[in-house]
Amino acid sequence: MINTVFIPPNPKKIHKDMPKCNLHTHLEGSVRPETFLALADKQKVKLPFNKNQILDFIQVSGVEKTLVDYLNKIMINYQVLKDYQALKQVAYEAAEDAHKDGVIYIELRAGPLTHSHDDLSIEACIEAMLDGLQEAQTKFGIITGLILSGLRNHETNKNIILAKIAKKYQDKGVVGFDLAGDEVGYSAELHQEAFTIIRDSDLGITVHAGEAAGYENVQYAINNLNASRIGHGVKSIESKSTMELIKERKILLEICPTSNIHTGTVESIESHPVKEFFDSGIEISIGDDDPITSRTKVSNELTLLLNTFGFSNNELLKIQLSSVDHSFLKDDLIKHQLKEKIQEFEQFF
Ligand SMILES: [Zn+2]
Repeated sequence: MINTVFIPPNPKKIHKDMPKCNLHTHLEGSVRPETFLALADKQKVKLPFNKNQILDFIQVSGVEKTLVDYLNKIMINYQVLKDYQALKQVAYEAAEDAHKDGVIYIELRAGPLTHSHDDLSIEACIEAMLDGLQEAQTKFGIITGLILSGLRNHETNKNIILAKIAKKYQDKGVVGFDLAGDEVGYSAELHQEAFTIIRDSDLGITVHAGEAAGYENVQYAINNLNASRIGHGVKSIESKSTMELIKERKILLEICPTSNIHTGTVESIESHPVKEFFDSGIEISIGDDDPITSRTKVSNELTLLLNTFGFSNNELLKIQLSSVDHSFLKDDLIKHQLKEKIQEFEQFF
């Protein structure tokens, strides 16, 4: 397996036990290759490739140019995410992998409409993932939440149904609602009504915007969809008024640097505006987006910040505190405990 190519050979290291939060990571990009193969075997899925070629098919190879190319890699995983047990296992393993990377709080997101079918309801998909997360939480102590992603290419009415179902699970582990998928091909306007339903709930709202398309989408997500967090939002850097809006409304940008290279959002890692966002006072979190697809994890992304962008360890801790502040957790006591764990680390720097 190729490691992330964006970290120099002898990097400065983040403290190995630094408590980390991951607010932006997708279940569909978190399927371990060995789990994919085992599930395909069990479900008798005919694969269009040899087992030993699997990494070429589910991970970035460097030829991907756009978000759609990247999404096509992730979609290969859909083939095995078709039953309760599979969804539970993958959710569990995503949280387990995060825990091993020192993540103490994870908001895993997934699009249940992609996995439901005649014999597996949307509710069953959600419950499977919640069960997997709960099991990991009990076993490893990692705090977990589930964000439901409506996909841009899904019918308006389907995302409205998903939003209504999401509300039913707001006290059962679902913490937020998201819009994901092909940002260039499908306008967020198509799904405004789903977000109006969520606005009237305890669920947090985050929207993928300003990733494959322009800053206008960031403005739309904030002004019309009531987003308090933006997935990526990288293109906001091109607009002073968008940057001001983000600051004024105290919106958090969920930044995933390596993924932004793989989707062509930025041309090179050096040109990523993550430090400019941070230095301008915009709050950010650092996620891995699709850790298996992008061959990364949160500790890699933070190492990248330390080495390529000149962040200090203290600033990385500040990012973790921002992440807790902007998390969709409703329990203030847990928030407080997470922040205490992070603050204990200030003594090391
Ligand atoms: Zn994403």
